[in-house]
Amino acid sequence: MDSTELARRLAEIVGERHVRIAEGDLEAYARDATPLFRHRPDVVVFPGDATEVAAVLTLATELSVPVVPRGAGSNLAAATVPLAGGIVLVLTRLTRILEISGPELLARVQPGVSTKALADAAAAAGLLYVPDPGSQVVSTVGGNVATCAGGLRGLKYGVTRNYVLGLEVALATGEIIRTGGRLWKDVAGYDLTRLLTGSEGTLGVITEVTVALVPKPAAARTGVAYFTDLAAAGRAVAAVIGAGITPATCEFLDRTCVAAVEDYAHLGLDTDAGALLLFGDDGDPEMVEASLARIGQVCTEQGATGVTLAGSIAASEDLLAARRCSLPALSRLGSLTILEDATVPRPQLAEMADRIAAIAAKHRLTIGTFGHAGDGNLHPTCVLDAHDTEAIERSHAAFGEIFAAAMELGGTITGEHGVGAAKLPYLERRLGADQLALLRRIKSAFDPAGILNPGKLGS
Ligand SMILES: Cc1cc2nc3c(=O)[nH]c(=O)nc-3n(C[C@H](O)[C@H](O)[C@H](O)COP(=O)(O)OP(=O)(O)OC[C@H]3O[C@@H](n4cnc5c(N)ncnc54)[C@H](O)[C@@H]3O)c2cc1C
Repeated sequence: MDSTELARRLAEIVGERHVRIAEGDLEAYARDATPLFRHRPDVVVFPGDATEVAAVLTLATELSVPVVPRGAGSNLAAATVPLAGGIVLVLTRLTRILEISGPELLARVQPGVSTKALADAAAAAGLLYVPDPGSQVVSTVGGNVATCAGGLRGLKYGVTRNYVLGLEVALATGEIIRTGGRLWKDVAGYDLTRLLTGSEGTLGVITEVTVALVPKPAAARTGVAYFTDLAAAGRAVAAVIGAGITPATCEFLDRTCVAAVEDYAHLGLDTDAGALLLFGDDGDPEMVEASLARIGQVCTEQGATGVTLAGSIAASEDLLAARRCSLPALSRLGSLTILEDATVPRPQLAEMADRIAAIAAKHRLTIGTFGHAGDGNLHPTCVLDAHDTEAIERSHAAFGEIFAAAMELGGTITGEHGVGAAKLPYLERRLGADQLALLRRIKSAFDPAGILNPGKLGS
């Protein structure tokens, strides 16, 4: 079926104004936040509710047309690039916060709600929505669930998966199911909520999300410790956690990132330092003071060249903003920025930092590394000239070695960004052939015609 006829059939479901086939629209939805990946869809469609989503999927299954679910397209794994063309199904019209329940500590939202809008609505009710990816202003809750997004509070509080209580999902075959619900304790059946969380738009389209909230902590503060290099900061992280302290936030930036962030945001960071560790805690005010003082002390014992505790909420916010702007700050160093994602066990952070530095030097590349140190989750980020094809080749080789190093150290190829198309070539090495085959059988149980996000998980 040609795209004009497909668009006409889709318009019968969602209305003509919610179907796009103009060149500019197809080009806009050919990409996400991942450089080097691009493929145009045939049609872009914006359904207005779950029934319309299900009807689009039924039609796509009937016609064997690929469908790529998409929230904000802020993913960094080419997860929403429509590699096989077809329909990009955008959920951004579904932006209602349906319910915030204080007594039940939960919120029920449509998938296109931005993470920040949910966090703000929860805060207005005196509650906290914990997951806080650096992209929270743009990313959607549906996208966060589909990628199991992490964030700056991961160490103490966990990631998106830990807060998803229930989902409404439109299946490829047109049924709408509800998994889980409003309960913390519910073990009836296979845990499809967990299976769908992190399924990257390959098993179904999430049309509603019920998330757990927590009471807003009375106080939250941060501090910063400087080290001679990232490996030293990594050793300090291991020592802090080894001392029985679990900070809410524990992030690090290497020398390249500190310099880029300072040049971008002018926060007064010490650019002579080889690495910066940003730590923070929340809870009862006295407990927070004691926790921060103890972390500062352990960092000093581990050779920190300086430790500063933020004196005010504004100063804490500045420090967190410094961490959040690492990617835009690094992006100013070159016309192409490839941000990657690998995780190692915490005791291996220092070793992994050393290995990344050695790999960057070997391939003559600028790789700045920042990340969620407390989770062992690093984001080595390569900054290049977009026209230098030879350097781009070298960066592919370097990242292959970085993922191999992470696995060798007992880690994984992605801690939070997901597999998408970008990491699919590395997945078998991480999971093994038998598990990959099981993934494919699960995929075909959910999506027998194989229409959902082809070229990604389950392919
Ligand atoms: C500056 C920056 C900072 C970032 N910081 C973080 C961070 O700290 N932690 C982190 O984990 N990630 C981070 N990311 C990556 C990205 O923001 C997350 O992966 C985010 O969860 C994607 O949300 P989205 O709405 O943009 O989803 P999209 O990019 O649109 O989609 C991501 C995946 O989810 C699927 N999907 C989307 N909506 C649905 C739905 N309703 N139903 C089924 N499948 C769906 C898509 O098919 C795709 O596979 C960052 C990205 C940027 C650009």
